Amino acid sequence: MSKTLQGISSIEDFDLDDQRVFLRLDLNVPLKDGKITDDTRIQAALPTIRYAMEKGAKLLIASHLGRPKTETDKASLSMEPVARYLNDTLNCEVMLIDDLRGDAAKALFQGLKSNQIILMENLRFDPGEEKNDPTLAQTIASYIDVYINDAFGASHRAHMSVVGLPVLVEKKGLGFLMKKEIEMLDHVLEGGKSPFVAILGGAKVSDKITVIEKLIDKVDALIIGGAMAYTFLAAQKISIGNSLLEKEKVNFAKDLIHRMETRNIKLLLPVDHRVVTQFQNTDSLETTKNAAIADGKIAIDIGPQTEKLYASEIEKAKTIFWNGPMGVFETPEYASGTFAVAKAVAESSAMSIVGGGDSAAAAKESGYAKEMSHISTGGGASLEYLQGDKLPGIEALRPAKRSEKTVNEGL
Ligand code: AMP
Repeated sequence: MSKTLQGISSIEDFDLDDQRVFLRLDLNVPLKDGKITDDTRIQAALPTIRYAMEKGAKLLIASHLGRPKTETDKASLSMEPVARYLNDTLNCEVMLIDDLRGDAAKALFQGLKSNQIILMENLRFDPGEEKNDPTLAQTIASYIDVYINDAFGASHRAHMSVVGLPVLVEKKGLGFLMKKEIEMLDHVLEGGKSPFVAILGGAKVSDKITVIEKLIDKVDALIIGGAMAYTFLAAQKISIGNSLLEKEKVNFAKDLIHRMETRNIKLLLPVDHRVVTQFQNTDSLETTKNAAIADGKIAIDIGPQTEKLYASEIEKAKTIFWNGPMGVFETPEYASGTFAVAKAVAESSAMSIVGGGDSAAAAKESGYAKEMSHISTGGGASLEYLQGDKLPGIEALRPAKRSEKTVNEGL
């Protein structure tokens, strides 16, 4: 049992029969022209939905979708496509309600049949969601019996549906996805089997400093790729041309390299690169002979020698954590290094955990996602958890302390 989850109930701890259950999910799926282009997050939420339905719950499902700012966003970020998807997949009637503050949900709950579900419109359409509005939380709390959070991808946000609402509800707990996500990340934190190899990539060293600090206490080898790698190369006085550099992080990189050397932890940096003259100019793509990058060139991916080097290290691992692409993988011509890493992770027999966001998308696009042990549905949440931060969405599920309860009850 995960230490973090001790004292927190799970959906299985409640009798859900005929109970009005608020299920906070992360159904924040990418949409194009009103169609869902990647259903991973909905699929990941299905076991909890199905379980609640089988147990006779009256279900009210809620999620955010994208970042609506204007009225026009309301048309493109409606939960309607999600409602249709759930309708077809679960073979039930999904009723979409758009007023969180009114009586619609309360009224619908009354006559809800076993093959019907209520789905709230995009939570972020109501400004009270992101502001953690207590009035909105109280309104919803007044007509639900049980609160379940299975929205791992949103659990690092102190929003109404993640924090304000559960603290008002007595019967509250985790869904199956949330439990699995935390248990998998705990596996990384508590140090999985050795050799433990962490692969970090993506845009910025600054975004990942805290997680790097945490991981170097656990890993046997750290592989660095993506734009982050050039700050490390610059720290070793290797020329990096016009590649991305975070000047103010060069000293951190130097210090880290030194600390890893003294502790005998292997640090792998690119030994060659794929470079271009401008980001958009795919025709100028070429491979460098070694780690040095000529003036005027921008590295957009690791090179073929680096792919081999990284793959051979990954092959030896028994535990792998991967976060961040090795290059600008969104452009197919620049995706080779990221896909090579995805392949190596997939082929390894290690317990492999992919930490959300771009790496999850890359793992999927590469076609190797199924062979990884766990792909997190939350990029930001998984990094914050690994950094040692308490996730507000988990903390809000802890039973209220006696004194808090007394205050809430006005005694
Ligand atoms: P992050 O969100 O920090 O994981 O960063 C992901 C982003 O890093 C992706 O959008 C990549 O396109 C970008 N990225 C990866 N490698 C490079 C590179 N060599 N130059 C510029 N951007 C990169």
